[in-house]
Amino acid sequence: MHEAKIARSIVTALRDGELAGRRVVLHVRGGHHGPDEFEASLRLHLEAEAPDLEPASFRVVHDPAPRLCVGCGEEFAAPRPDDPCPRCGGASLPLLDHEQVEVELVG
Ligand SMILES: [Zn+2]
Repeated sequence: MHEAKIARSIVTALRDGELAGRRVVLHVRGGHHGPDEFEASLRLHLEAEAPDLEPASFRVVHDPAPRLCVGCGEEFAAPRPDDPCPRCGGASLPLLDHEQVEVELVG
């Protein structure tokens, strides 16, 4: 599963030491899942990979991702898959097939 792979690479990075004890912000863009569903799934996998890591040290942020309106063909950026097209209000498809996760360290 995609989320499992992401969780594993995050935990591997944390285990390498440099990131230990720091707070982590995960910037998520794109993908077919709803953002809440993706976040819940990612958190489950993080807990499974690293039960000793504090869940509170991870924050998930959903950044706007490129989408394509199926009604009028407008390309726009939106953080949620159900955000309507700004031109015609129609539904849209994600231009990024899989979620992309960037890891940011804070504090
Ligand atoms: Zn449109």
